[in-house]
Amino acid sequence: MPGTERLKNSLSPELATKIKGGYNLPGVDRLKQCLGCGERREEIELMRIVNNKGELKVDPGGRLSGRDVYICPQVSCFQAARKDNQLSEELHIEITEELFNQLLEEINHG
Ligand SMILES: [Zn+2]
Repeated sequence: MPGTERLKNSLSPELATKIKGGYNLPGVDRLKQCLGCGERREEIELMRIVNNKGELKVDPGGRLSGRDVYICPQVSCFQAARKDNQLSEELHIEITEELFNQLLEEINHG
């Protein structure tokens, strides 16, 4: 992708890493990082959580647009991701107790 390298160089290393992780580069495609445990796994193994126009959605097919995070489908990773408001900050949405419980429900039923 021409221009990507230049763009990355003008960003902080932290941000550049984030962007790099978001691109589907050859060889590293479909690997997403769990917000909870930080492990990199195939996209299909993780749950995609999207802030779709202000609504929190679980989107396994990756069809919805919006700010998203990937988390392993296990309670411990969701709890880790919720710690220190990480989940809220990544998604730019407030994660209430109710919303969080809904997410946990999705894991149990998904
Ligand atoms: Zn995880």
